[in-house]
Amino acid sequence: MSPLRYAEDALRLSASSQVNGAILTTMRVLVVEDEVDLATAVAHGLIAEGYDVEVAHDGEEGLWRAREGQFDAIMLDILLPGMNGYRVCRTLRDEDVWTPVLMLTAKDGEYDEAEGLDTGADDYLTKPFSFVVLLARLRALIRRGAVVRPPVLVVGDLEVDPSSRECRRGSTDIHLTPREFVLLEALATQPGRVFTKQELIDRVWGLEFPGNANIVEVYIGYLRKKVDRPFGTDTVQTVRGVGYRVVA
Ligand code: CA
Repeated sequence: MSPLRYAEDALRLSASSQVNGAILTTMRVLVVEDEVDLATAVAHGLIAEGYDVEVAHDGEEGLWRAREGQFDAIMLDILLPGMNGYRVCRTLRDEDVWTPVLMLTAKDGEYDEAEGLDTGADDYLTKPFSFVVLLARLRALIRRGAVVRPPVLVVGDLEVDPSSRECRRGSTDIHLTPREFVLLEALATQPGRVFTKQELIDRVWGLEFPGNANIVEVYIGYLRKKVDRPFGTDTVQTVRGVGYRVVA
């Protein structure tokens, strides 16, 4: 065990003993980052915030820990020795591990954020980042929880393909804006389930939420205009006083 790992473990123990008898669920975060100073600083910061943290310094160890441990979120750097962050994320998703992943991207633009999201990451953060922003992103991801994304989401004859970002009904392609797509994708992950406005705001707008919850209703209207009205269907539904759902 390296001295660093030992220090992290010691801190981890002290953090989990701070519960003072209260029943608390400690959130567990895996930090996969090969820059040791950065990883250590982030780990110490998160521990101070009450998180339970494990650190991996290369892709293979990160993958192994992500598979074996139950984490509420994973911070995953892209450029890692052994196996890069894209491959780690893709492998986890292929193995049906849907722990929320916050991908760390370099500022030079060498690595594309869109590519990170395509491999199944849930959000990304550009380095260098402030710890406050990191905490906010992690909290949002953990609140949202694991989002299982099968290859193509199907609601009756409506198909939503998260990897290609395509939507069609039967053989007719439907063009959606990125925001409309993410909204439909969120609803289509669980057909029949009613999503509250707040859940949809968290999933679709996140930190970009403009502050007016009516925007959900507006976008639901845009969706209906595209996926229902031309086809005479009623897939996107309002459940009065509760929220929205899609049904076949
Ligand atoms: Ca790196």
